[in-house]
Amino acid sequence: MKPKGFVRRTKQREAILQVLRGTTSHPTADWVYQEVRKEMPHVSLGTIYRNLRTLSEHGEIRELAYGSHHSRFDANADSHYHFICDSCGCVEDLDMPIMQELEEKVEKLGDYQVVTHRLEFHGICPSCSDETSDQH
Ligand code: ZN
Ligand code: MN
Repeated sequence: MKPKGFVRRTKQREAILQVLRGTTSHPTADWVYQEVRKEMPHVSLGTIYRNLRTLSEHGEIRELAYGSHHSRFDANADSHYHFICDSCGCVEDLDMPIMQELEEKVEKLGDYQVVTHRLEFHGICPSCSDETSDQH
């Protein structure tokens, strides 16, 4: 894992981190902006974007980029997998303790040093599949 860098803590960054840590929904920048604004009415969306980028560059948070969709942000910067619902777009954490094992297997294939890896699971989340079965 990449060592976490130290990023200067500003009032805005503290507020952003607090908002992100208070949710498991992997929100977009816009959602974070709406929340931070409740405490700091004069903050701009640009400031939120800039700080989210800085925090993820320093490994304090993770930016999740899914193709053409808006990036989502995760306060949990440790490696973990996500399930993305193709119906409602929700992003959920998956607790799968095989990440380390996979990286070791790759390193055994050759002279590779794995720093990180990404794996995403797409499909239909439990609440969306409930809705579908309700219609029948
Ligand atoms: Zn869903
Ligand atoms: Mn996550």
